[in-house]
Amino acid sequence: MSKETITNIKIEKASTSKINEVDFSNLAFGNVFTDHMFVCDYENGAWQEPQITPYQKISLDPSARVFHYGQAVFEGMKAYKDEQDDIWLFRPKENFERINKSAARLAMPEFPEDFFFEGLNTLLKLEKDWIKKGFGNSLYIRPFVIATESGVSASPANKYKFMIICSPAQSYYGGEVRVKIADHYSRAASGGFGFAKAAGNYAGQFYPTSIANKEGFQQIIWTDANTHEYLEEAGTMNIFFRIGDKLITCPISDRILDGVTRKSVIAMAKDLDIDVDIRPIKVTEVIEAANNGSLKEIFGSGTAAVINPIAGFGFKGDTWELPKIENSFASKIKQAIMDIQYNISEDKFGWRV
Ligand code: PMP
Repeated sequence: MSKETITNIKIEKASTSKINEVDFSNLAFGNVFTDHMFVCDYENGAWQEPQITPYQKISLDPSARVFHYGQAVFEGMKAYKDEQDDIWLFRPKENFERINKSAARLAMPEFPEDFFFEGLNTLLKLEKDWIKKGFGNSLYIRPFVIATESGVSASPANKYKFMIICSPAQSYYGGEVRVKIADHYSRAASGGFGFAKAAGNYAGQFYPTSIANKEGFQQIIWTDANTHEYLEEAGTMNIFFRIGDKLITCPISDRILDGVTRKSVIAMAKDLDIDVDIRPIKVTEVIEAANNGSLKEIFGSGTAAVINPIAGFGFKGDTWELPKIENSFASKIKQAIMDIQYNISEDKFGWRV
């Protein structure tokens, strides 16, 4: 392995690349990782020397706090390659700021902006061949922070590890998505940490989602924990409803992840002269609209698929199917955002970096 230092990041390059073993036309999401990873440890009250090393296993004491008290936060973002082989990120500062908001809520130290971006850019330059051209191809980037200090004492750790790993991704069509509107389980509570991209928020969803899966739904739309009357967000997506010609989504709160795609969908919809209403939306309003034919679309927004149209929903044992429509808001907005991500259209919002 060769060792060299670029700026202040210590880089240890992998002696061989795994890239030729990968079938890029047949990628399952999040299973294959690139040749390198970014690592930075926190101890003695400060982030230490950042490093890029070959992708490899890490070793932790069985008593490391992350295994017991769940101090773990992460991000999900993507890099895209255009026809000129230039590599683009989409609103990466939003992800940087969000991981620090998540960290602060879990009593974890914030990560410095220059380390984050220098680490990310250096890693992406090393892994540029893993980012394939073509609409829908991307490199999924997973920054995360875990508490590494050993000792089973229920208090915030003094040692952490920040890492970035990357996984090549393809756009895929996962089939029609039907969602169950939650009437019993909840994802987040007021005053809790639903707004944080924290591991525990996902662990808590798996069991209720597995019940919904058995009932024939792929995902759950979570409702407010107190009354289950208001629609909030889906498993890994924010959620939009088109009633008539209005696009409605609920405001963010401490129970809801402030999605980068959600913000972009709202801005893009307004730019496309679509009327956007950001207000609490009741389950009964959506059911009434479905019954009287004014409910035209439901879609989720998130980094993974940009926009995921929803074909139907269920609530308390009843189900509704959505009409198939041409020129949907979902497809118009998705196309316009992807054109920016892949440097196909002008980016008047300044989202492409
Ligand atoms: N809600 C939750 C719970 C999520 O995990 C995600 C995915 N990060 C989103 C919404 C969408 O966020 P973004 O658009 O930033 O990917």
